Amino acid sequence: MSRLIAFAAIQGGYKVVTQAEGALNKALATYDADTKVGFPNTGYFLPVIYSLFGIKVETLEDLQEPLDIARGLLPPHIKNKTWLPFLGPLLDAGMAGIISFEVIEALRYLNEPDFYLHAEDPDIENGKLWTGAADDTIFRKRGVEFVDGSAPGFAAIVGSAPDPETAKMIIEDYQQRGLYMFLAANHNGTTVVEQLIEAGVQVGWSTRIACFGPDISSAVFAAGFANRVAMAFGGVEPGDYKKILMYNKERVFAFVNALGEVGTEWGVAAAGCVNWGFPTLADTDITQILPTGICTYEHVVSPVAHEDICAKSVEVRGLKTLVSEIDISCSFGPAYEGERVRGADLHAQCGGGKTQCTELVKMADIGAIEDGKVILDGPDLDGIKEGETFPLGIFVQIAGREFQEDFEPIIERQIHHLVNYIQSVMHIGQRDISWIRISKAAIEKGFTLKDIGTVLHAKFHQDFGNILDKVQVTLYTKKADVDKLTKTARAEYQKRDARVDGMVDEDVETYYSCTLCQSFAPSHVCSVSPERTGLCGAYNWMDCKASFEINPTGPNQPIEKGECIDPKLGQWKGVNDFVYKASRGAVTHYNFYSMVIDPMTTCGCCECIAAMLPGCNGVMTVGRDYAGETPCGMKFTTLAGVMGGGAASPGFVGHSKFNITQGKFILGDGGLLRMVWMPKQLKEELKDRITKRGEDMGVPGLYDMIADETVGLTEEEIMPFLKEKGHPALDMESLV
Ligand code: SF4
Ligand code: ZN
Repeated sequence: MSRLIAFAAIQGGYKVVTQAEGALNKALATYDADTKVGFPNTGYFLPVIYSLFGIKVETLEDLQEPLDIARGLLPPHIKNKTWLPFLGPLLDAGMAGIISFEVIEALRYLNEPDFYLHAEDPDIENGKLWTGAADDTIFRKRGVEFVDGSAPGFAAIVGSAPDPETAKMIIEDYQQRGLYMFLAANHNGTTVVEQLIEAGVQVGWSTRIACFGPDISSAVFAAGFANRVAMAFGGVEPGDYKKILMYNKERVFAFVNALGEVGTEWGVAAAGCVNWGFPTLADTDITQILPTGICTYEHVVSPVAHEDICAKSVEVRGLKTLVSEIDISCSFGPAYEGERVRGADLHAQCGGGKTQCTELVKMADIGAIEDGKVILDGPDLDGIKEGETFPLGIFVQIAGREFQEDFEPIIERQIHHLVNYIQSVMHIGQRDISWIRISKAAIEKGFTLKDIGTVLHAKFHQDFGNILDKVQVTLYTKKADVDKLTKTARAEYQKRDARVDGMVDEDVETYYSCTLCQSFAPSHVCSVSPERTGLCGAYNWMDCKASFEINPTGPNQPIEKGECIDPKLGQWKGVNDFVYKASRGAVTHYNFYSMVIDPMTTCGCCECIAAMLPGCNGVMTVGRDYAGETPCGMKFTTLAGVMGGGAASPGFVGHSKFNITQGKFILGDGGLLRMVWMPKQLKEELKDRITKRGEDMGVPGLYDMIADETVGLTEEEIMPFLKEKGHPALDMESLV
């Protein structure tokens, strides 16, 4: 605990309590004891005193009781050199100060009835800048915004900036985030309100800039406002001080910015605010109080540069950025998710086997990225003619106090449906096999690649605000950069896949569902087990587990396996029950480990599709990036067209690349030993894993026994090769 600030705050507590007592004694000598006191037009009396202690201050003499409480809260004087190991005395001194400030302001209303203007906005022409405590009309209109989410919180700003331009910059930063600003106190006689007026900024409640008062005591109006929110909208009873303070800590995202030297009175105000969970950020060098305890994160942070104070305050208070508007030229929303961009409408595209299109989400240090920054590195769409293609790398960096690397794949998988939300733009696939098709209509409306970044930033905040604080997006359109990102991304995908590598399905009692794709494939339900990653390849069992932790009502739900109905084909009662419900009755049951008998449903995102080749007594599989013919008589696109609607088609199944070498891959049908044909590139990509899996299954040379397009494109063409190599499928029991 910081000695200096504790010293200043406790000194300040004594000073302010004494001041208030003096002012009360003077008033009692001037007016009758039953003279009415209070803030105008409110049913909450002096709201801090009323909310915390249930004391209804109505007359002058009623002020004595709260002041006695304040005096009683003052901790013993501490010597300059004393080290305070805990926050308690500081918090008490702070609370004593805040109570006294409210008494001082009540007496000002009595002594100078015209000091505060009773209006929403200052009357600049007549020099009446201060509007004092918010009356109940203003409070009801504005206070509700803190509860319904239209205002994320408030910044109580005390003192003044070095100059009007700096004041303007800080205020505009907060305005952009939709925060309210409660202005109070002065620094060397100058106030932020005056600076804003000089800089041409419109002030008043109507622009969310409340001009409370020129003295530090008027900062108490902010605390009174916050406590009224707890009583009026949080239903907390007056006098229940613990709940009032807790409500503020948890629900009212407020903090203090101290602009100028922090003396004893500001110190006590800052200490007082810690009781509310409101931290203070100062532009001067005061001793920091970093350890957490009461506030969500640090209590006092300094010195903070003016250009950083907004971002830093938001971070320290744990305040979530609300991005309500998505500023792009095309329409946007879930209504457009299922929309296709067909050949005749197409302007340009990337990925889809024509160019490389890769997506990667990575965690970053909170100081290393800038929230909302979208960088386009390379040419945009304006130079691209109709029918052309271009490479694209979408690199999203995320930072947040609560963010973990485990969340990366979950966020990354959202790119698919979020880009699809953009009208006239279509997104297919994920990871390094993404495919984006941009229509002529989108180009006409002014769509640019940067819009992708704008959308991702806004939606990630909206949908995952609980786990992230900053989102920065870089879009690469130069081939070399895209290739470099792809290389990095593939290493990341591998790391993620490996997280379930050592696990087997028998290890767990719980699988996870994924219904993220139901917007395209309404009856499709992926069931993800340790040995069966999602067919898109983007979600493995670990990812689904993390996703459920982030969002317990989201698309990844735990499924208790329950009774095992068929251990060989992989069927469980718990899964069937879940799938029946989640598919709204369309699918009654399916097998995890078979593509021949009642396989899992398939949606259009699958990385690969496996098909039976009865003539070879085996199966083949083809990945999205292979455009040619295959021995089953259909190309990938044709297969995907037939399968992708969420149906289960015996003889076919969609699966991820990684799944091919997972232990349970079509094990009920004989497993990987049935594989007789794969595109060369896919085979090579998985070479080490196929070799290893073949060895584990007792066929060390399996890799060389699998045919590819260089061997043949029909069952007849590959059969001699299989025979020559002695492929194990030929000796297995009949597949049909
Ligand atoms: Fe989820 Fe399956 Fe869609 Fe992947 S393919 S996002 S696992 S529903
Ligand atoms: Zn899908």
